[in-house]
Amino acid sequence: MTLRLDATRLAGRFESVFGAAADGVWQAPGRVNLIGEHTDYNEGFVLPFAIDRTARVAVRLRSDSTIRLLSTFGNQGLTTVDARSLSRETARGWTKYPLGVVWALQQRGLDVGGLDLLLDSDVPRGAGLSSSHAIECAVITALNELAGADLGAGDMVLATQRAENDFVGAPTGIMDQSASLRGAAGHALFLDCRDQGIRLVPFDAESAGLVTLVIDTRVSHSHAGGGYADRRASCELGAEVLGVRALRDVGLEDLGEAGGLLDPVTFRRVRHVVTENERVLQTVKVLEGTGPEAIGPLLDASHASMRDDFEISCPELDLAVEAARAAGAIGARMTGGGFGGSAIALTPAAAEQQVRDAVGRAFAEAGYTAPDIFSVRPAAGAMRLA
Ligand code: ADP
Ligand code: MG
Repeated sequence: MTLRLDATRLAGRFESVFGAAADGVWQAPGRVNLIGEHTDYNEGFVLPFAIDRTARVAVRLRSDSTIRLLSTFGNQGLTTVDARSLSRETARGWTKYPLGVVWALQQRGLDVGGLDLLLDSDVPRGAGLSSSHAIECAVITALNELAGADLGAGDMVLATQRAENDFVGAPTGIMDQSASLRGAAGHALFLDCRDQGIRLVPFDAESAGLVTLVIDTRVSHSHAGGGYADRRASCELGAEVLGVRALRDVGLEDLGEAGGLLDPVTFRRVRHVVTENERVLQTVKVLEGTGPEAIGPLLDASHASMRDDFEISCPELDLAVEAARAAGAIGARMTGGGFGGSAIALTPAAAEQQVRDAVGRAFAEAGYTAPDIFSVRPAAGAMRLA
């Protein structure tokens, strides 16, 4: 992970690389999904929060159509392309994300022309914290402002979704961008993925004496890989057989009948989505009532459902969750798309070290790569820094 450069240093670095001052510096956070997994593309409910780890971009619009991109991460060198001939076939590596945003804006009839861009991010890559959307959201926030496009958050969400779906080639929903663009400090974002309706829900773990630990298993997931697309296809099949527009329209009370209509695998996929939607609603209720100290059982039930019904966990995620719970976490679950990435463990501050040690020990005993464990706070969404 790269050390985050502050806005002044990033702007300074930009100027020495590109030979001209940046027009500004913008940032957008990664996100942790507190609960509501694989419900987004089923037009259901999710409850993510923006985290205190961000992608930052220094950007300058150019008067020609040249796009030059550089990241502080790795030795990937400068990428130079022409804004008039962007192509998903030729875009490589991380540049797909900023180029996808430029492309998606072009598709909306908004041509920003050429630009220089320097990226710096401390959102862990491929850990399920959406480092890719952090980049896209930082870029779209910058370009929206620089081009005077005046897109609202809802339109920026849809444009970044278009970039991921049709340029990057990852069939993701709207949750990650929504959290990154619309999140707020001390809150989770209750999002209805059917109509993009949002409500900020207090999630002040700190005041409740809790910390949210992220356990990055270092098992790399890939959204473009088969598992995610396969689960999406199962959900579409389930909705079709049950005769609903999306699984959002199936209630707990419909599950008995659904069992008779669906093959066993599709039924379990459907049951996960239906019960997970219900758990999101319950979690919102608890957070707005008693507080974060009472959501542990909902997190645990969510993990069990992903492990057993949706089958998107993996041994490392299961071990992280079990070890954290045994050492004092009040609730734990895998978060993100699955098949690797991170788990979260809501942990009493007093038990934090104990949980960290126990998870590290369990991984060592199992012969797994040591996990990366860190705490996150619900933080502000995308913004201009300088
Ligand atoms: P996630 O979004 O869950 O982190 P993805 O596979 O969707 O996982 O996105 C990870 C990709 O984002 C990396 O492979 C890389 O291309 C890109 N990326 C993330 N952070 C950076 C960075 N600081 N510099 C360059 N590329 C980055
Ligand atoms: Mg991603």
